[in-house]
Amino acid sequence: MKNDNTNKNNEKNNNKYLWISVVALILIITIGIVSYFYMNNNKEEDTKNVAYTDLIKDVNEGKIEKIEMTVGSTSLKLKYRDEEEEKYAIVPNTQAFIELIQTKVEEGNEIQLIQNQQNVLVKMSSSLFSLLPTILLIVMFVLIFKMQGLGDKGKIYDAETAETETKFDDVAGLDEEKQEMIEIVDFLKKPQKFYDMGAKIPRGVLLCGKPGTGKTLIAKAIAGEANVPFISLSGSEFIEMFAGLGASRVRKLFEKAKKVAPCIVFIDEIDAIGSRRTSSGGAESENNQTLNQLLVEMDGFDSKETVIVLAATNRPEMLDDALLRPGRFDRQINIGLPDMRGREEILKIHAKNKKLSNDINLKSIAEDTAGFTGAELANILNEAAIIATINKHRSIGKDDIEEAVKKVTVGLEKQSRVISDKDKRLTAFHEAGHAIVSKFLETQEAVKEISIIPRGVAGGYTMYRTNEDKSYISKTEMEERLVALLGGRAAEKIALNDISTGASNDIEVATKIAKNMVTVYGMSDVVGPISINTDKDPYELQMFGENFGDTVGQEVRKIINTAYLRAQSILANNMDKLNAVANTLLEKEVITEEEFERFFIA
Ligand code: ADP
Ligand code: ZN
Repeated sequence: MKNDNTNKNNEKNNNKYLWISVVALILIITIGIVSYFYMNNNKEEDTKNVAYTDLIKDVNEGKIEKIEMTVGSTSLKLKYRDEEEEKYAIVPNTQAFIELIQTKVEEGNEIQLIQNQQNVLVKMSSSLFSLLPTILLIVMFVLIFKMQGLGDKGKIYDAETAETETKFDDVAGLDEEKQEMIEIVDFLKKPQKFYDMGAKIPRGVLLCGKPGTGKTLIAKAIAGEANVPFISLSGSEFIEMFAGLGASRVRKLFEKAKKVAPCIVFIDEIDAIGSRRTSSGGAESENNQTLNQLLVEMDGFDSKETVIVLAATNRPEMLDDALLRPGRFDRQINIGLPDMRGREEILKIHAKNKKLSNDINLKSIAEDTAGFTGAELANILNEAAIIATINKHRSIGKDDIEEAVKKVTVGLEKQSRVISDKDKRLTAFHEAGHAIVSKFLETQEAVKEISIIPRGVAGGYTMYRTNEDKSYISKTEMEERLVALLGGRAAEKIALNDISTGASNDIEVATKIAKNMVTVYGMSDVVGPISINTDKDPYELQMFGENFGDTVGQEVRKIINTAYLRAQSILANNMDKLNAVANTLLEKEVITEEEFERFFIA
């Protein structure tokens, strides 16, 4: 309960400061407006204005009987000797003007000079008005500081709420990972049992996996199962922080954790603070401080404090080795993409509270979504619900799901974007190129849909059927994937004798695959089965000889060029098909799987 209160207090305080700032702002603005009108009322109507040069002349000629002015203001009220009506003037330099009047008076002119004290309200508000920017700045600074200090962003979910929150049942698939976690749940529930046996409690567990694979979810589930508080914090938050705050934030986080132990501390994106330490100064040394503090805290646990630190990252290879030493994050659990059964389970969980029509088969959706993360699958069902609502369907139907899949994978359809005929033609040949080339490649999946309707950043797309989960990809498969990827560019070149920027993403992906073939999978005969990671060590290439980098580069280029030539030759042998598919695309914009297959029947 205690934690709950601190949390609420923080919230309350933050609210309070927000209110104060709003009230202060309103006050300042009101005063400003009032004083503005007040000052303006003191002023004059246009017709009665006297120009400054005329005023000086009139003063010299003795025409003026009385001058009234307000201290601090440059506008004057004038009374001419032979006129009833009062007139007004503005003087550029009040002091100089007063001196002029004084000499005139000394010379014997009869001019009455009345200097009014400023009205208190106007005086106050006008000085406030000029101080306004400064005041606002100060208020904002104070607020920012208060919020930073108080809202120690680590969130605590109270033990009681954790009970009703996430459980292992909410995490689909990941059975082996859950199995490993059960041990930790046990530690948290009955630490004494383990201490009595002389066992040491694990301190840190590193969860490695792509974003959206459920790392946060499983961490929460552990807290939920063990019924302990879940304190979380994201590594990226440290990057935005002022100097020195990172380390103190880490210290506070662990102080809090020790107070509520047993508990789970979850650090998301730990690579943001835990990247390899560097000796250079500046922002990086700030990161070093934060990381050092984290190491100190990990080492500083009392053996009786049951705090388990879970950290998530997508780039374990980036982490400082010190973080991975025994007693720190010495356990690593890899969370991969869900397989077909896992995907079906995830879909089942997220379909629970949704109105699905009877014709929907979650299994077949799972078959079509190889490579999707749990977050993307959850997102698909949610998007489908939104699409169904917008289209006023009674329940979520097949087409809603299909639309949602496209939305999540390629972005939203942009029907409004006007595309020139030239662009359309280019896209049509590009996409037709991908599709036709794939058709002639043994290992490539069947084409499911080709479209030249722009979505997201893509001008068009070719979707493939993906219904096989594979643990390994063969060299032939990778080579053919490159051919399919470069089929777009090859078609542009062959059919239109011109190439465009539209293939940039294909080329990026292809280059990455080719690089991996040589440096990760050892698929180049010349280079041999060698793993090179220049991200980790920029000088690694030199280890293999002075010109080894050139050899690697040549091999990558050879792989790409071979694929590009093969794509061109496939298309050159099937020009009739390329033209037919591209022209159909120009006409109908979308070609389905069946329609595409029909081109190859004759
Ligand atoms: P990560 O921390 O790995 O980036 P999250 O745990 O934040 O991913 O996952 C985001 C969302 O995706 C979850 O809140 C959940 O809705 C969904 N999700 C991901 N993996 C699973 C899973 N295995 N089972 C059920 N839902 C999942
Ligand atoms: Zn392409």
